[in-house]
Amino acid sequence: MSERFTGSFTQQEPIPDEGIAAALEVMRHGRLHRYNLADGEAGEVALLECEFAAFTGARYCLAVASGGYALGCALRALGVGAGDRVLTNAFTLAPVPGAIASVGAVPVFVEVTEDLVIDLAHLERAIAQSGARVLLLSHMRGHICDMEALMALCDGAGVRVIEDCAHTMGARWGDVPSGRHGVIGCYSTQTYKHMNSGEGGLLVSDDAEVMARAILLSGSYMLYDRHLAAPGPEAFEGLRLDVPNISGRMDNLRAAILRPQLRALPGQVARWNALYAVVEEGLRDLPGLRLIARPGAEAFVGSSFQFLLPDWPAGRVRDLLARCAARGVELKWFGAEDPVGFTSRYAHWRYAAPPELPQTDRVLAGLIDMRLPLTFSAEDCALIARIIRAEVGAAWQAG
Ligand SMILES: *Cc1c(COP(=O)(O)O)cnc(C)c1O
Repeated sequence: MSERFTGSFTQQEPIPDEGIAAALEVMRHGRLHRYNLADGEAGEVALLECEFAAFTGARYCLAVASGGYALGCALRALGVGAGDRVLTNAFTLAPVPGAIASVGAVPVFVEVTEDLVIDLAHLERAIAQSGARVLLLSHMRGHICDMEALMALCDGAGVRVIEDCAHTMGARWGDVPSGRHGVIGCYSTQTYKHMNSGEGGLLVSDDAEVMARAILLSGSYMLYDRHLAAPGPEAFEGLRLDVPNISGRMDNLRAAILRPQLRALPGQVARWNALYAVVEEGLRDLPGLRLIARPGAEAFVGSSFQFLLPDWPAGRVRDLLARCAARGVELKWFGAEDPVGFTSRYAHWRYAAPPELPQTDRVLAGLIDMRLPLTFSAEDCALIARIIRAEVGAAWQAG
């Protein structure tokens, strides 16, 4: 009989006991709002911000209500407003163009390469043609482009970079943590990302004025002196009456759950990468399937796995998906006509009137994606790879 996988691709690990205990503590004292502090108390949110700033090597950090909120807040903090154009890679998830639309701005989509990163040659043309002054760069599914080349291009053109690190929390390019090349780095702590507080987001920056704006935007009233990873009061002086309050704070309960997860993150990254390596090994040298090259400078987090079925007809891809699903392996396809689950693609974001991007279309038509939650074992991953291998072989021959 052929093997079957019975695990769940969406089941994350439980919250660590330390996080549960800290959450109970917050509920017992009842001070869930970040600015509701007892005498001498720092609060879980302010402490999380200090710890995340240290983790990324950033001067300042702000915790917010979601990753999508962090992106919108970052755009506003850079002064992006109605009618402005904002560059972004065409291969990303819906909250990224959504954040651009939320400030009334217009996404300008940039092509992606077969390595699933932004196409720098197309970016250069798109900067020149659009006149956009901000790039919202999404490190989609953890793939990081050549960040030195990207920053040289953007710095040279006067384009400021916001990094969407929803899939690269804990990753690096060379020695630089992901989120630290651009002026602002944004992260998500939603359940399917690298730390889990249900919903949540973080922003980091070294720029005092940008961070003061972000803190005021997030809904700090005039209580910004209760932040510990913030610029000094002088940074707020000229801004406090001019920046609107667009509430999106994090609360102490979520921060309490996240602090122990942040301490555990480096170990979790190593576990993810061990799972990723098993799948990669199991799918090597398979006719019809292309693995995604991972550059030496890219210290990624293998929390999901992608491969390409270059130039496969749609019918054959659907056949493969059905064969794998019948054996318990849930693959996601970015080439589907209609958005399914998380896998919408740029052509589906009709409000943004996306142009045709033939190179991206060709990549996405053959792009397969799966999550690797830490509830999987190495044996699970070896089994998943054996099933995909067998079914790709069968679909390829049935061709
Ligand atoms: C999840 C995600 C976001 C937004 O995060 P939320 O916390 O769900 O708002 C942004 N970008 C990418 C690529 C994501 O996967």
